[in-house]
This record gives sequence, C-alpha cells and structure tokens, in this order.
Amino acid sequence: MFDKILIANRGEIALRVLRACKELGIATVAVHSTADEDAMHVRLADESVCIGPPPAKDSYLNIPALLAACEITGADAVHPGYGFLSENARFAEILAEHSVHFIGPRPEHIRLMGDKIAAKRAAEQLGIPTVPGSDGGLGSDEEARRLANGIGFPVMVKAAAGGGGRGMKVIRGEADLPSALATARAESKAAFGDDTLYLEKYLERPRHIEIQVLGDGKGRAIHLGERDCSLQRRHQKVWEEGHSPALNTAARDSIGETVAKAMREIKYLGVGTVEFLYDDGAFNFIEMNTRIQVEHPVTEMITDIDLILEQIRVAAGNDLELAQDGVKFHGHAIECRINAENAVSFRPSPGKIIHYHPPGGLGVRVDSAAYHGYAIPPFYDSLIGKLIVHGKTRGECLMRLRRALDEFVIDGVETNLALFRALAQEKDIIDGDYHIHWLEEFLARGGLEP
Ligand code: ADP
Repeated sequence: MFDKILIANRGEIALRVLRACKELGIATVAVHSTADEDAMHVRLADESVCIGPPPAKDSYLNIPALLAACEITGADAVHPGYGFLSENARFAEILAEHSVHFIGPRPEHIRLMGDKIAAKRAAEQLGIPTVPGSDGGLGSDEEARRLANGIGFPVMVKAAAGGGGRGMKVIRGEADLPSALATARAESKAAFGDDTLYLEKYLERPRHIEIQVLGDGKGRAIHLGERDCSLQRRHQKVWEEGHSPALNTAARDSIGETVAKAMREIKYLGVGTVEFLYDDGAFNFIEMNTRIQVEHPVTEMITDIDLILEQIRVAAGNDLELAQDGVKFHGHAIECRINAENAVSFRPSPGKIIHYHPPGGLGVRVDSAAYHGYAIPPFYDSLIGKLIVHGKTRGECLMRLRRALDEFVIDGVETNLALFRALAQEKDIIDGDYHIHWLEEFLARGGLEP
C-alpha cells in the first residue's frame, strides 16, 4: 500500500480523497493555490504545499510544481480527483518517470478514451453498442453531407478531443451543415487545439445512463450498476440518480456485464464510467471517463462500496477482491449538485458564505468543502457541495430529499437550491419520466418563475 498520497485537486473531491486515505492509514499531502490557503482540504491534510497563483494553469495544472511537491514531501502516489489533470495521460507518464504512482488507469487507456473517435472504435470492437455515426474523423464538407444523409437528419457534430459538453452542434437539415461544421471546427480548435470532428445520429429524447466499472489491471473487472444523469443543462449534469427509473434488473445486468467483460478484456485498471444514451430500449455508447466522477457517491450509497478506497487499493497493485455476485444493490440514491449561482440565470455567484447549515439525519450525506465564513474564490468551478440522499425506495428517497433541501441553509452567495426544491416537486421527476432535454424545456417554459 502507499505511504503518502498527494492530492492534486481542491474542493469537495480533495476532501473525499483525504477521508479515504485517513481510513486506510495513509498520510496525505494537500496542494493549493494562493487563493485556497484557507481551504478545508489544506486544513485537514497532514501536510500542505502551495503550488502557485490562483489561475489553475499556474497551480492545479502546473506539473513541475506538483512534481516538486511530491519530491519535497516524499509522496509515493498522486490522486488527481476529477477535472484538472485526472485524464492527462502525459501527467501519468511523467509521474511514473519520477517513480511516483498515478492513481488512475494506465496512460494508454486514458489516451484511448480521451480520443473520442478512437474510443468509439474500441467500444465497437469490444462489443459495446455505439451511436450510429461516422467511422472516424470527418474530411470534407461534401463527405459530411453524404454521411449525414446516410444516417438521416438530425445529426450531431462533436469534437474528437471534446469534453465538458463543448464543441457539439445539432444539425437539423442539409442547409445548416456548412455553417455548423465551420463553427464546430473553430470552437474545437479554440477549446482543445484540435479541430477534428466526427458525426453521429442525434437522438431526440434519450436518457443519459452510465455504468460504473472497477478493474484491477490484471483482467478482473466488475460493474457497479448505473446512474441516470439525464437532468442536464448545457450538457452538464445537474441531478444524478441510481438506479435509473428507466431500467429493470435484466437490462441493468445485461449492459453491466457487456461493459465489465470489455474491461476484463482490456485489463482496465481503476475506476471508470462508460456513458450511454439510452433510447427506445437501446444503449448507445458516447464516451468513457477514465477517472472518478463527481456523481460517484450515488453508486456508493446503493452498493455500500467505497469507490475511492477501492481505486487506491487497485492502484497500489492489489487484486480486486470484490466479485460481481458480491455487489448487492439496495435502495435508491439521488445527488444534487449545489452550486454558487443564480437559480434562474445560472450566473456564478462566488463570495463569502456568511451562514452555512447543511442538512443531516438518516440517509443524508453532504460532500462539501464549504464552511461558515468560507469565501468561494472566483477562479474555479462554482460547486459548493453535493447533497446525496438515500432511501429504501425512490419514493422514500424523494421524500427525504425534499426534507433535506428545506433544511439546507447557505447565506451570502446565491445558490441553485431553489431549482432542486422545484424539481423535487415536479410530477415528471416524481414519476421518473424525463430525458436529456427535460430540464432545459422546463426552464424555457418558466418552470422556476414564482
Ligand atoms: P462531453 O465529453 O463533452 O461531456 P458527451 O459525448 O459525454 O460529451 O456528451 C455530453 C452530453 O451531450 C450527453 O449527455 C447528451 O446530453 C448530449 N449528447 C451527446 N451525444 C449526443 C447524441 N448523439 N444525441 C443527442 N445528444 C447527445
């Protein structure tokens, strides 16, 4: 096992990793920018190192500074959390060159899944169903036109190097194709330094359903069921739940086993999430994330498995001890991403929290690095924390969620608590009857206006 883990992240995920390390008896090193001197992860770690000024590129993304921090503290492993360097294959390689373990998959798998075209091809070869689309990058506009007509409109163009919902465009008819391609190419070049695009069938009302996997890099791998992340705004997840209201046990076991088998075949190491659009009873692979995800607590609550602890164990070379038939699901969990932002306009609202009272009680979990008097810096994401609620049934979970949301007090900054309070009362949500555009349609019809 590792002796000392450096956590190359901030906020709630840094705290989450710290907690797992403490339980495992592993010493921790926090790193922070000058804007995060008073952050909770810095206070709770055994040691801390300042790695640079506020902009992420100069601190949390600053590889030489992180290497120096490992050297100074003698950390033998780095946990990257999510975001920042978590899916940077080069970072994993550089760490290895300096005899520091990267807690994540092997660089070749990070690289494979980071290239969405290669990922889709690999998925197909591994027997995972994919969205119909171009077999590789798009060449000329004429080729795109032929392809789109073959697949049938509407289609979606996406950036091969994409992420975070950027560089995607829906195209409803042939006439819109040239301008959409030009905009998507420009956006992709600006955001990712690469303008390779690919094209796929645009699914009108699918659900976003993802499968959590865990492997030990030696050919053992299991799935931990699914999360339904269909409630999104601008392709960003807002509310996640497990199980999906749309799946039965047979459907879950079947797609779960397909994915787990693929992971055994490639000898996948660590945690990962295989994402699908679920449409008309069919799964369509869109991408794989090779890191721990924001919404991992949903799975933890319904399986009682500590994903970060397992992630650390397998990264240290231990065999996966969990067997598929040892994974037992119980009850239902919902996660709400509580952000410092205006509930209606979604404009970020950084600043000082002058009053903070998180909810508690049976089945309520809050993963947050916020505290009374904490000033949310303007430099990073606006996540204040995640409220995760568990119940024996989905109905009980929703009841508990409404109660917990009522208890939550965050004063001093604007929050999206009002959005969740409204969602938890909506008939479609209560019925589990929603898809990836439901939330935007709800907002567009003024669902949040008093
Ligand atoms: P990113 O890596 O940028 O998050 P994804 O490929 O995971 O991109 O897609 C993010 C979201 O975009 C999906 O959850 C879904 O809402 C939407 N999306 C992606 N592909 C399609 C598609 N073919 N049809 C309809 N919606 C899509």
